[in-house]
Amino acid sequence: MAHQLQLEKERYRQWVKAGLGLGYLKEGIEPFCDDVTKQQHKDELNNIQQSKNLPTVTCGQCAVRTLKPDHLKIGNKQCPLGQANCNCCYTSGKIACPNNVCGAIYDNIITNHASTPPAPYWKNTQTQQWTGDSWSIAKCFINAPGYDQKTSAADIDCTGLLHVIINNKYFHNHIQCNLAGSNVFSKVTQYRNEIFHSSTMELEKTDASNYIDDMIAVLKDGKELIDRKDAQDAVKKLEELKNDDFIITTENMEKVLGDIREEIWNIRKSTEGLATKDDCDDLKIKYLHWNFSCLNKRR
Ligand SMILES: [Zn+2]
Ligand SMILES: [Zn+2]
Repeated sequence: MAHQLQLEKERYRQWVKAGLGLGYLKEGIEPFCDDVTKQQHKDELNNIQQSKNLPTVTCGQCAVRTLKPDHLKIGNKQCPLGQANCNCCYTSGKIACPNNVCGAIYDNIITNHASTPPAPYWKNTQTQQWTGDSWSIAKCFINAPGYDQKTSAADIDCTGLLHVIINNKYFHNHIQCNLAGSNVFSKVTQYRNEIFHSSTMELEKTDASNYIDDMIAVLKDGKELIDRKDAQDAVKKLEELKNDDFIITTENMEKVLGDIREEIWNIRKSTEGLATKDDCDDLKIKYLHWNFSCLNKRR
């Protein structure tokens, strides 16, 4: 019995380590994502300004639902860019950008999207911010709900940042790893689900070590990340996590639970009360588990 309890405690320790690892990974890739996103935004606006010979590239008046793209449908209802349900297929009620900018940005988002067919996540974006805020465009590449109110890289979790890298072709020029098909970046987004959605809050040591090794592999991507200070600092922290004598503090645990709390809050907001009861129950179980382990410690 005592042995069983020891094992459970060890698996819980491993779970907390993996959860902390995700936080370190985010810290390590955030400045890189922010820099590349800003560069992409600048490049795109410059290209639009030059190709259309515009005095300025600003807008703030268009809405994604009613925006008329620059590209035109083929035949009756076929998008030449391959997007399902594209605005180009519905001519009635669609309005061209009064500044001649947003239609081109819309097209760019589709052509930069790496999946086949391209599938930008329009619900995450705020079209009115397109010309002023690079992240309003980058968020179209996050293939999950809950990012519509986020306005900076700092606001966006590890998964969101990884999606921006994986789903945005512009980023692929800044990454050595081949992001088509199975790759370590995509694998890490899966781990996040396994860690955060584990109701037992337990993880085998070998799994935790594999997860952390793959997080390190992401941060050591040979093109640019490997030379960045933030990524190198994150690798050091992840390597410390792998030490057997790494001490899990209450602060550590609170950080991981805080991340989960934020995620559930995002899901709740984005689904507007739908399908959230299970998530809330899940969170309650996690709280109970956590309080229980604190109690055990005090004894
Ligand atoms: Zn189209
Ligand atoms: Zn516009």
